[in-house]
Amino acid sequence: MTSTLQPAVTARGPLDDARTQLREATTILGYDEGLYSMLATPRREVTVSIPLRRDNGDTELLIGHRVQHNFSRGPAKGGLRYSPDVNLDEVRALAMWMTWKCALLDVPYGGAKGGVRIDPRNYSSAELERVTRRYTSEISPLIGPERDIPAPDIGTDENTMAWLMDTYSVQQGHTVLGVATGKPVSLGGSLGRATATSRGVVHVALAALRSRGIDPVGATAAVQGFGKVGSYAARFLAEAGVRVVAVSDQYGAIGSHAGLDIPSVEEHVDTHGSVVGFPAGEEVDDLLTLDVDLLVPAAIEGVVHAGNAEQVRAQVIVEGANGPTTPEADTILQSRGRLVVPDILANAGGVIVSYFEWVQANQAYWWSADEVEARLADRMTTAWDRVTEHAARLDLPLRTAATCLAVERVAQAHLLRGLYP
Ligand code: NAD
Repeated sequence: MTSTLQPAVTARGPLDDARTQLREATTILGYDEGLYSMLATPRREVTVSIPLRRDNGDTELLIGHRVQHNFSRGPAKGGLRYSPDVNLDEVRALAMWMTWKCALLDVPYGGAKGGVRIDPRNYSSAELERVTRRYTSEISPLIGPERDIPAPDIGTDENTMAWLMDTYSVQQGHTVLGVATGKPVSLGGSLGRATATSRGVVHVALAALRSRGIDPVGATAAVQGFGKVGSYAARFLAEAGVRVVAVSDQYGAIGSHAGLDIPSVEEHVDTHGSVVGFPAGEEVDDLLTLDVDLLVPAAIEGVVHAGNAEQVRAQVIVEGANGPTTPEADTILQSRGRLVVPDILANAGGVIVSYFEWVQANQAYWWSADEVEARLADRMTTAWDRVTEHAARLDLPLRTAATCLAVERVAQAHLLRGLYP
């Protein structure tokens, strides 16, 4: 296991975007350079090599990271991503956004993120299990229910969390359910966790549409990404009466002017592995610039950027993904009067119910699905009200208002704790 503290990058990417957003917030809050630097820099990060024995007997070396951005308010918390695009700066950015998200929603965690550079589609389940167990073993000194609690993200799922929890538990000599969230319900998972991020996205999307005088019933929407977040977001939007006219995944986009039947799209994806080829839809060229009321980017970072933000026609953009809008695009969308509901608010449902799962696991006492949903709705609505009131009072975009509220909460924790030694 090797510790790395690499210097900041020069090419623009998610980490630059995250730091630009932080810089803006600390300037508004009147914080000095020292406090900015502390908040801009991860507290701890590790890079590990993961030798994998392939099913055919070959050995392959993979690289993984875990970044703990901050734990002033509690243990670090954040997803684990399996993607060929994973790199340390991306993980750093995602960890920082987790810190702000947890602070904004007032869950008692700092932020973390993990990633392994791998395209999971090219590996068998047995190989992915070996990758997960070796990665977990390498980062195990850093994680634990009181230290850092991983969860699923792009390319990982409840099985990944079951293997992670088992590997950690075997090392500890007893079952530690609280080391990961997003686990199977039969293994200490929470009811409602699998759909929580999407439910939260839809709670704020409906509120955002209404705030613009758009009745959600009959409003149109496009959803980018049809994975854990995007597919359920599309489904819950449709259940709320929104006409979902387009969805996409990494292979392409499909649409229907009349609105897609989302359960049928889900069935098509289960059988064919992609939305592409869905018989009751046409191919769509550029989902992001469709003439819709609501756009939900729910795939990857940086998809709305300076090069296409002028063409985005949706009135309301609700960030299901982390970091889908660059700061340049934010400025353009703002000047064009578009409403962007930022990731740290919009997709916080996942970490809220992860928090509920951790609480339930630690207490060994399980809540009903209705209880989880009611508490999730309450927290999302409270956060939406708080951010929109703050934005209106200070005449700020929602992202700036949300980041300021979150950063202030983290900075207060820092200042109250003081520096050691
Ligand atoms: P996932 O792996 O389940 O799904 C990702 C989806 O995005 C897939 O359908 C994939 O095909 C698609 N995709 C990838 N690249 C694309 C591209 N260029 N264009 C269109 N589609 C593309 O991942 P997920 O868990 O749904 O995560 C999606 C986003 O939501 C990520 O930014 C993640 O960090 C964020 N997020 C996830 C959670 C969670 O609970 N899973 C919580 C908060 C935020």
